[in-house]
Amino acid sequence: MSKADLVVRDVRIWTGDSAGRGEIRLIDKGAVAVSGEGLSYVGPATDAPGGTRVIDGAGRLLTPGLIDCHTHIVHAGNRAGEWQMRLEGATYEQVARAGGGIVSSVKAVRASSKDELVRQSLPRLDALIAEGVTTIEIKSGYGLDRENEAKMLRAARLLGAERPITVTTTHLGAHAMPPGATDKDTYISDVVERQLPFAADEGLVDAVDAFCEGIAFAPDQVRRVFEKARQLRLPVKLHAEQLSNQGGSKLAAEYGALSVDHIEYLDEEGVAAIARSGTVGVLLPGAYYFIKEKQKPPVEGLRKAGVPMALATDCNPGTSPLTSLLLTMNLGSTLFGLTPQEALLGVTREAARALGRSTEVGTVTFGKRADLAIWNVAEPAELAYRMGFNPLWKRVWRGNV
Ligand SMILES: [Zn+2]
Repeated sequence: MSKADLVVRDVRIWTGDSAGRGEIRLIDKGAVAVSGEGLSYVGPATDAPGGTRVIDGAGRLLTPGLIDCHTHIVHAGNRAGEWQMRLEGATYEQVARAGGGIVSSVKAVRASSKDELVRQSLPRLDALIAEGVTTIEIKSGYGLDRENEAKMLRAARLLGAERPITVTTTHLGAHAMPPGATDKDTYISDVVERQLPFAADEGLVDAVDAFCEGIAFAPDQVRRVFEKARQLRLPVKLHAEQLSNQGGSKLAAEYGALSVDHIEYLDEEGVAAIARSGTVGVLLPGAYYFIKEKQKPPVEGLRKAGVPMALATDCNPGTSPLTSLLLTMNLGSTLFGLTPQEALLGVTREAARALGRSTEVGTVTFGKRADLAIWNVAEPAELAYRMGFNPLWKRVWRGNV
């Protein structure tokens, strides 16, 4: 066997691949070899090839690099002020009158250059990288016009150029109504006719998202966005059933959506629909926690129907100022009842699926990209177990330590 570029020896490998009966294949005293950007060997250390560089894992746990599959990490400013106001007793109306809410994020993004957006977003990205995150999805959605949505997506792409991490971008023009606009159908026309084709033309869009909710857009309006995405041959995702059941998930399933996200109010019919379409349910416990939601997503129903469940930070300034995927795993387990194994699958294999990247990343499998995390823990469950503790030892992105 020829020499690999990198070999990591004596690790306990949690592959993320199924071993049947709900178990995940674990390899004790394992090794992985990396050639170029890909995994050229995964198996027992005794059969591993030699490497130009060899790392002794000393029995540590090795997992796939983590994947944060739902973020709004590109934004400007923060909303600590309105959070403080609310805790001091202000009503939502008072907060809105003081200039709070999503409109304040839109104004801050519009007032910032692309480079300023990158500068402000980097510390948040670095926090995730320090926890072994190797792929991140970043949405637009605070620009809400052609130029500013494109600016956000360019900033997202730049983040991927500045740091060793894979960035996938999602256009979320249909996130909220821009300041001053009154007619939702007219605004959706702007998303469909101006924003999306422009951003797609510039190569800035990997997927298309919308917010289907009473306070955002109705299924009929989302359908127009999805039709355009289909025309542009872009996959779709949806913020759905977060605060009420609008039937967004059923619509998303109709379009073979990669994922439906939040889904606290998803009903049985909705679960069946996304089970049939192979759509991933992305759970966002950070937002549930931060805005003190009461309705939990139907985890047992999703499990029974065999719907893959992913977990993500939903990092955003208004409802989930969260930049820890490890803490997200803990919240997913404590608040929603995911098993530690489901939580880990939710930030690896199923998160990759939610981004349409299953063939490239998400498991430690021969032929996939060498995106890995090595941890100072022995058991996989320890990753979701601790709160505010980061046991990352080393991180490998596309073969680079
Ligand atoms: Zn979101």
